[in-house]
Amino acid sequence: EGLISAYASDAERDAEATVRPKRLADFIAQHRVRDQLDLLLRGAMGRGAPPDHILLSGPPGLGKTTLANIVAAELGAGIRVTSGPAIERSGDLAAILTSLTEGDVLFIDEIHRIAKPAEELLYSAMEDFRVDVVVGKGPGATAIPLDVEPFTLVGATTRSGLLTGPMRDRFGFVAHLDFYSPDELDVLLQRSARILRVPITEGGSAEIAGRSRGTPRIANRLLRRVRDFAEVRADGTVTLETAQAALRVYDVDELGLDRLDRAVLTALVDSFRGGPVGLSTLAVAVGEQPDTVEEVCEPFLVRAGLLARTPRGRVATEAAWRHLGRTPPNGTFG
Ligand code: ATP
Repeated sequence: EGLISAYASDAERDAEATVRPKRLADFIAQHRVRDQLDLLLRGAMGRGAPPDHILLSGPPGLGKTTLANIVAAELGAGIRVTSGPAIERSGDLAAILTSLTEGDVLFIDEIHRIAKPAEELLYSAMEDFRVDVVVGKGPGATAIPLDVEPFTLVGATTRSGLLTGPMRDRFGFVAHLDFYSPDELDVLLQRSARILRVPITEGGSAEIAGRSRGTPRIANRLLRRVRDFAEVRADGTVTLETAQAALRVYDVDELGLDRLDRAVLTALVDSFRGGPVGLSTLAVAVGEQPDTVEEVCEPFLVRAGLLARTPRGRVATEAAWRHLGRTPPNGTFG
């Protein structure tokens, strides 16, 4: 299991639920998005109407699901949760839409993976709060118009570029979540440690923060792994030393790269002499889906300055060669 993938178990889901911020004020960093959302929600509440539909984009684990729940909590509204891949037939979506009560938040994760007919049904629901449900087949088919209560759609996607134009146009508010800085993750870890009652030193939280791939979900996950180590092999306090020793056991390197990140870089450097190489070739080399490499792995590698996307393909940077302990070829980098 990669570090960034969705929850590995129910135990992990429960652990996440305890540290998940419930209100906007507890949501750490992302100040611009927070500020904008605050205005959007207060404006709507002042008018007594549901706010515009909200699109959240950004790599996995940065807080999209958390924000969707916060939106509902701040509005004092109910929330229904589903995902693009779960909506196969437009009838599934029609059933959800017509069961919403006024002011509800509908959260659709991975909204870019929604099937085409369902997507078109969603357009009319978003725009006019009505859907046409087609009953029957062939010449006898009839469209029955049904009303949908005013609701707010919160869509989440790993890349807003994957959405169709008409879909994107129907969101009145689009927020892009970016990776967190180590300092921001430090604050987040101190908060999580307090909630989980894990004794932690400044050195300990800074070390975990620096190796969390800019991602809250990973920071919280590593905190729990280091806590295990500290409790079993030391006196229970998360310190710089226990963090370093534990992260070695869990195969997280100094930059926070996990097994898949390193596999991608190693393949680029060793099998393709640093590239350029196409995404699908690279994905095959590491035995992963191109989507996973592109949406989960690459954003952080690009951000960390280890990989570049060029028109001719993916290229390992000089820093990537050095990080793997290899000597970069001469003259390639100018
Ligand atoms: P995915 O797109 O894979 O669903 P996500 O971006 O929705 O991921 P969340 O599940 O919302 O990510 O966040 C992962 C965990 O990180 C949450 O359980 C929460 O505890 C924590 N978290 C995320 N963002 C913040 C934040 N800004 N402040 C505090 N904790 C956060």
